[in-house]
Amino acid sequence: MKFECTQCGLCCTNLGRRDIVIALKADRQRIADRQDRDLAWIEQAYFERNAELSDIAGQDVYHIKDNDGRCVFLDDAGLCSIRKYKPYQCKHGPDRFFPSTMAKSYECMKGFENAPESDIEREFFDQLFSGD
Ligand code: SF4
Ligand code: SF4
Repeated sequence: MKFECTQCGLCCTNLGRRDIVIALKADRQRIADRQDRDLAWIEQAYFERNAELSDIAGQDVYHIKDNDGRCVFLDDAGLCSIRKYKPYQCKHGPDRFFPSTMAKSYECMKGFENAPESDIEREFFDQLFSGD
C-alpha cells in the first residue's frame, strides 16, 4: 500500500495536543546553519525542552514549539517554511514514523495501523539516545 500525502496540513497543526515533533540535534543544527543563526538562538526561538523525554533519554530532548497547535514553521499559506531542511521526523512521517499512533489521528494513515517498527524509527532513536 502506497502512502499519499494530500497536503491537508493537519499533522502540522496538531502539535502539543497529541503529537509532538522531536528535533534531533542534527536537525536543530541544520536549521541553524540554513538560517545563518547560532544553535542557541534557534533552540530558544523555535524549540522547547521536553521534560518527559529528556528524563527517559538521559539528555536534553527538544520538540518544536507551536501556536495553538500550529507548528511555528508553518507559513501563512499552510506550507512548511523549512521544507527543504525539515526535521528527520517530518521528512519520514507520518507513514514510516510511529504509524500505530499516528494512524489514529489522520485520514491519510488509514491502513497503516499495524505497520511494524521501521528502520527509520530505529535510526531515529539511535540518534536521539546518542545525542546526535
Ligand atoms: S495529515 Fe497526512 S495528508 Fe495531511 S499533511 Fe499530514 S501527512 Fe499529509
Ligand atoms: S517542521 Fe514543517 S513539516 Fe514539520 S511539523 Fe512543522 S510545518 Fe510541519
